[in-house]
Amino acid sequence: MSPTTNKNKRRLVLVFVLTCLMCTALAFRVGWIQVVASERYAKMAVEQQTRDVPIPAKRGIIYDTNGKELAISAVTNSIWARPGVVKSAATEEKSQENLEKTASALAEILEMDQEQVLKIISQNRSLVKVAKYVDKEKADQIRQKGLKGIEIAEDVKRYYPMGPFLAHVLGSTTDDNRGLAGIEMRYDKYLSGIPGRWIKNTDRDGDSLSYGVEKYFQAENGLNLVLTIDEVIQHYVEKALDTVQANTSADRVMCIVMDPKTGDILAMGVTPDYDPNNPRVPPTEEGAAYLDSLTDEKKLEYWNAMWRNPLVSDTYEPGSTFKLLTTAIALEEGVTSLDDRFVCTGSIVVAGQKLRCWRSYNPHGAQNLVQAVGNSCNPVFVQLAQRVGYEKYFDYMELFGLRDKTGIDYPGEGYAILQDEASAGPVGLATMSYGQGIAVTPIQLITAVSALGNEGKLMQPRIVKELRDSDGNVIQSFKTKVVRQVVSKKTADEMSLIMEAVVDEGGGATAKVPGYRIGGKTGTANKAKGGGYSEETFSSFIGMAPMDDPRIAILMIVDNPKGVKFGSQTAAPGVRLVLEETLRYLNIQPSYNEEEKQAIESGYVTVPDVTNMPYRDAMDILGKASLLYTVSPAGDIALDDNFNVVDQYPKPGEKLQKGGTVCLYRN
Ligand SMILES: [Zn+2]
Repeated sequence: MSPTTNKNKRRLVLVFVLTCLMCTALAFRVGWIQVVASERYAKMAVEQQTRDVPIPAKRGIIYDTNGKELAISAVTNSIWARPGVVKSAATEEKSQENLEKTASALAEILEMDQEQVLKIISQNRSLVKVAKYVDKEKADQIRQKGLKGIEIAEDVKRYYPMGPFLAHVLGSTTDDNRGLAGIEMRYDKYLSGIPGRWIKNTDRDGDSLSYGVEKYFQAENGLNLVLTIDEVIQHYVEKALDTVQANTSADRVMCIVMDPKTGDILAMGVTPDYDPNNPRVPPTEEGAAYLDSLTDEKKLEYWNAMWRNPLVSDTYEPGSTFKLLTTAIALEEGVTSLDDRFVCTGSIVVAGQKLRCWRSYNPHGAQNLVQAVGNSCNPVFVQLAQRVGYEKYFDYMELFGLRDKTGIDYPGEGYAILQDEASAGPVGLATMSYGQGIAVTPIQLITAVSALGNEGKLMQPRIVKELRDSDGNVIQSFKTKVVRQVVSKKTADEMSLIMEAVVDEGGGATAKVPGYRIGGKTGTANKAKGGGYSEETFSSFIGMAPMDDPRIAILMIVDNPKGVKFGSQTAAPGVRLVLEETLRYLNIQPSYNEEEKQAIESGYVTVPDVTNMPYRDAMDILGKASLLYTVSPAGDIALDDNFNVVDQYPKPGEKLQKGGTVCLYRN
């Protein structure tokens, strides 16, 4: 008998345990409803009994430095429906009829699909949004219809009056007016304001109850921003970007204009751009078709790439523009001087490795420091860095702000990629001296070079200078900030002389604007790819003007120009376009020398003879004559390509407008 008894006992225990578990579960469930879910149920009841219409806050206006509106908030209307009220009727059938009638009326006025409207207003929710950004005319039509359960609320929509203008600085907003990218995102907490609510107690049908409480919480509008951007200069920059983009068929062209004395960003632009009014729509039809073919995840990547500002977020290899910093470091350390003599033999051997000058086929020979910068002669900069020494050179990278972010008030700033100080070695130092084997962000480079136009003081760049309330009162002003003294005023002054000489006599002549003292340096660097280098380049020009009292610093980068790749032929002419108009706009008076007077009077220069010359020399001579060139037959030319020019058009001795183009023929 005992086995059976034991079996019963076990059953008894099992039943007891199960009962206990069920009781516990029940207790939990009751607790859940009372404690946890009660809030939700209470809310559902309140929702049934109250009309609660959100009153959106007006997002602050974004102004340029002179008070021009760049982003505003326009008042529009949104249409809301209370499904319970719309369908309230004695029978199911009648309810459905009410819904369909309302959907049909709304769809007609709003030019929407009737089925879609029906689906929206049939939802089992107390309040649903049917449409937003509805203009006043349509809203009035709906109001006149007196549709039961349909309400109209005023809404605000972000509007960028100039479309794609300044898109990569401004950024954009989401549909519910939150900053999505750029300044809109960085300053969202000031711009967005606090939304209000309109609460009314109602009966089941949505009619106000006589004893109901009505509360209106006014929205608090966002603050307005005043940028350092000058809309006029931005306009010049965007025009020049489009021209360079068209002339070079580059992947991208980008440009920053900065006030070297304050760090203020005066203009900043990238091609291709997008329209922040519709931030998810690509600028071209091909782009739109491509976007359509992507998965949701890939779409997000695509948008982020489109909104990204590479001038702040991405790094590139600066190439020869970096030689300005190497020269400044060497001058500051007293290991060279303006009349220091060098001899280029076409290459220099570092730790057993032969590093070539770009003109190794025809070495620069004897030259002083100023000429060496103009010639962009690699071996000279290797020597300068060697004289400064490894540790000190890296210290200066830190002083120039390349070890850190600049602190610009823009989201997503990137870091430079410097060679590892511990393992770079003599070859690493040598290549760094002429801007290879490192990558900096464009904002870092222009900030560092701007210090040379600001008596050696490095500034923190900024885009926003003030917060104002809607009455125009300044709520907060952001001060300009000196980060540190990097080099002495003496070094900075000497660098100004050198930069001016590069444009007057060296490889930067294609940036020259007659009558103005302009300084700068070109750069052309092969893009790093898979541990080596590709044929694609970053071709750039960094400059300043006027050199006796710099008002603007400018950096233009042409990402992967096709055909002619040199910075002197791609970016420098673009910089000239911006400087020409900007210097005049800033009311800086030109003063012409004799040669310039003659050139302006005639408007023409004499075409030099470059036939039977190596291509690289022809390029140099034409550049110094402020002429551009094309190569025929067209096609890609590698940076180290140096074919012989077999013929040219126009012929030598003929007159050509300054900035005109000479065609060079190759076999
Ligand atoms: Zn050389």
